[in-house]
Amino acid sequence: MCYAIPGQVVEINSKTVTVEYFGEKKKAINEIAELKAGDFIYAQGGYVIKVVPEPEALATLELWKETFFELRETDLRLSRRPKEETGIGNDLSLILDKAAEGRELKREELLKLLATEKPAELDQLFKTANFLRQKYLSNSCCVHGIIEFSNYCRHDCVYCGIRKSNSILKRYRMSEEEIVEAAGEAIEKHGFKALVLQSGEDQEYQVDRVVGVIKEIKKRYPVLIFISVGEVGREGLQKFYDAGARGVLTRFETSDPKLYANLHCGDKLEERLQNIRDAYSLGYLVLTGGLIGLPGQSIESLLDDILLTKELNAEMYSFGPVLPYGPKTELVLKVLAVSRLVDPKNARILVTTGFETLEPSAQKLGLMAGANSVMLNVTPLKYRKLYEIYPGRAHAEETIEAQIKATLDLLYSLGRAPTDLGI
Ligand code: SF4
Repeated sequence: MCYAIPGQVVEINSKTVTVEYFGEKKKAINEIAELKAGDFIYAQGGYVIKVVPEPEALATLELWKETFFELRETDLRLSRRPKEETGIGNDLSLILDKAAEGRELKREELLKLLATEKPAELDQLFKTANFLRQKYLSNSCCVHGIIEFSNYCRHDCVYCGIRKSNSILKRYRMSEEEIVEAAGEAIEKHGFKALVLQSGEDQEYQVDRVVGVIKEIKKRYPVLIFISVGEVGREGLQKFYDAGARGVLTRFETSDPKLYANLHCGDKLEERLQNIRDAYSLGYLVLTGGLIGLPGQSIESLLDDILLTKELNAEMYSFGPVLPYGPKTELVLKVLAVSRLVDPKNARILVTTGFETLEPSAQKLGLMAGANSVMLNVTPLKYRKLYEIYPGRAHAEETIEAQIKATLDLLYSLGRAPTDLGI
């Protein structure tokens, strides 16, 4: 199983390399000293993660050759915007045409899109977002794995099932060996090339202990590692980076400081944002975003969340519903679609597990509304259902094989290639 297509290095310019995929050139950052022009590589998140032996690369490319172009054809067909009568008002139609031309929308225009509830207008909004995704980023779809290694947390966020005051939750903490083993299985057996290591803010898993895990995984396997363990300060982030992590997943949850303080027992939003800015300035790929459907959250506030995500230089937008409050599927899709309109050329937009829990067809609906990224849960099954940040979480009891099959079947039916072709 493979979640990236090998590319051939055609040029090396210091740390930046140019890689060719079926005639298309992309840039990637290289940290492998012995890499040379002509080598075949796998890239994830814009990083070269592995040199692939030529015979293996050529065999994989041969297998992909026809499929790659067939998928692109399917995607192109499914992402067209209808030119005929769409049945929507002139006002919205002009805004969406402007977006489709790649022009920046004004705040009031974006608000109109977020506010609409008319089915025909929603349909056009989602189609425009999908059109832009195809136009600028083609059919590649990131497929990352996530290992949730501890459900202990010192915080007490009101909406979260693993908050420290939830005394009925059975707690678990995977050992270092178990985490490395789970990563190895995901990488070697299932072919994942990017993994997120996630936990609550577990005081037993201090920075140096996580550093040890990152180093061990990087020593044994070629993989892009993202860290999602809450706030560890600039120093902690630097240690993770030095150990080999290259991405950070930290949501700011809401751009509204008052709402944030209410949710996070008086914590300051600015501190969370500083953490995210520090991560970016240290060179991390930043995955961030917010919650959809918080009590007291307005459309204006949701738009601020999307704009803040862009301002934070997010590589990936991660917006999920607050499940205890169950927002409508359409609201989540509107946030994904408007995110695409706000950042059409660069954003990886994730269909979150939270959305999949709210809506069984979330992956398909999200991918057809501007999203281009999914995450599969590769936490060992015996622990997975205990990471109960909300009840009835999707994939809590599904094997990795079953998740992969369902996701690949869906991606192929939509003409998407489960790849990450670099920057
Ligand atoms: S949202 Fe994060 S910080 Fe808050 S309780 Fe849950 S895991 Fe802990």
